[in-house]
Amino acid sequence: MGLLIRNGTVVAAETMGVADVLIDGEVIREVHRGIPPDSHDVLDATGMLLLPGGIDAHTHLDMPFGGSTSSDDFETGTRAAAIGGTTAIIDFAIQARGTRMRAALDTWWKKAESRACIDYGLHMIVTDLPEAGLEDMDEMVREGVASFKLFMAYPNVLMVDDATIFRALQQTSKNGALICMHAENGSVIDVIVRQALAEGKTAPIHHALTRPTRAEAEAVHRAIAMAEIAGVPIYIVHLSSEDALNQVREARDRGLPAFAETCPQYLLLSIDDMKLPGFEGAKYVFTPPLREKANLAKLWDGLKSDNLQVVSTDHCPFCFEDQKALGKDDFTKIPNGGPGIENRLQLLHHHGVGTGKITLNRFVEIVSTSPARIFGLYPRKGVIAPGSDADIVVWDPEAEHLISAKTHHMRCDYSMFEGFRVRGNARQVFSRGELIVENGQYKGRVGRGQYLRRAARGGAWN
Ligand SMILES: [Zn+2]
Repeated sequence: MGLLIRNGTVVAAETMGVADVLIDGEVIREVHRGIPPDSHDVLDATGMLLLPGGIDAHTHLDMPFGGSTSSDDFETGTRAAAIGGTTAIIDFAIQARGTRMRAALDTWWKKAESRACIDYGLHMIVTDLPEAGLEDMDEMVREGVASFKLFMAYPNVLMVDDATIFRALQQTSKNGALICMHAENGSVIDVIVRQALAEGKTAPIHHALTRPTRAEAEAVHRAIAMAEIAGVPIYIVHLSSEDALNQVREARDRGLPAFAETCPQYLLLSIDDMKLPGFEGAKYVFTPPLREKANLAKLWDGLKSDNLQVVSTDHCPFCFEDQKALGKDDFTKIPNGGPGIENRLQLLHHHGVGTGKITLNRFVEIVSTSPARIFGLYPRKGVIAPGSDADIVVWDPEAEHLISAKTHHMRCDYSMFEGFRVRGNARQVFSRGELIVENGQYKGRVGRGQYLRRAARGGAWN
């Protein structure tokens, strides 16, 4: 006896049509019209869309940053994700300088294993790379950590030099991992920041004003050039500006395997949202910063034209009252990050599909199928098909929802999208065949999420 979801419209990256979906245990068995109900449990999904569970490829749960820790741990963060229709995340383990990557992996497994409510993979953030680090990378790939993130920003904290980046890129040609790049010229930004502080510019808005789009574009250009020399693909995380997007487009036009993601905040918010009274702008202090409004339409175009392939959240919440406040007198001391893991599908569906900027197929592709392919989870995740995990969102395209910190499930005392009204929301969410969310309530067990061993040489390599 299985579970039969009947009469929903199954949406995939390329196709869409009414079908029944038969789930047997944790896996999808059949997807076609007219599956007989037999002795199965039956869920009627007439009028609903059936989406493959969302995959958020960029989250920071329980992450130490600048003397604070992101306010969602693996329990609260993944529960909020599930309620919003996301059934898998890829979070970041951080190698501490001078230590082995294995230690970081163990630390993050421990953070996640008894708490995660949905399945989770891990990227590894590389902060230094001695000779042994190259072997560490291979070992991580064997452990299913098929991607590494390096920083061209945050000097003296996370930033690595070009030689380190290039050696890491070269190593991926052997082990098939994917390098993810935080692309901003950290050295230049650091000079501008110190000059601003010396001039007494300490308010949150100066976080944005000291990080020009050219500093992002320059780093994107340099990162892609190094990947080209090494002969490997590259993935730019949280791309935020037209300047930077132009670099990716130029590379892709030349046939290079350059990939990039953006986030809802860059598609829907601008630097104008930071022009709030007092310290309120700190709610929007994250990196890269919010940009001038003209960039928003360009990023939507990038999604449409496939110069951007993924929308993730870069979820990294810090509470306004006691954490963001660390930077009251100095914007450089504001913990960088914002909450978003719960609202990604709602925002993309409403502002993307609802306005005709992207199709339903493209919506599914950028929130699920494409991250699954690029990060070595496809076809186990990212598609509703026989043999795939039964990660299914029963999506009500007409459901109205008001986004607010008063009702959201993220452990954060504000919302970046406070007061946004959206049409379209998850009604039920299944994770490996288990009903974990119904009408905005989490029904699953805490700690039920499983570690995802991801395959190397994912979609970026083809
Ligand atoms: Zn991030």
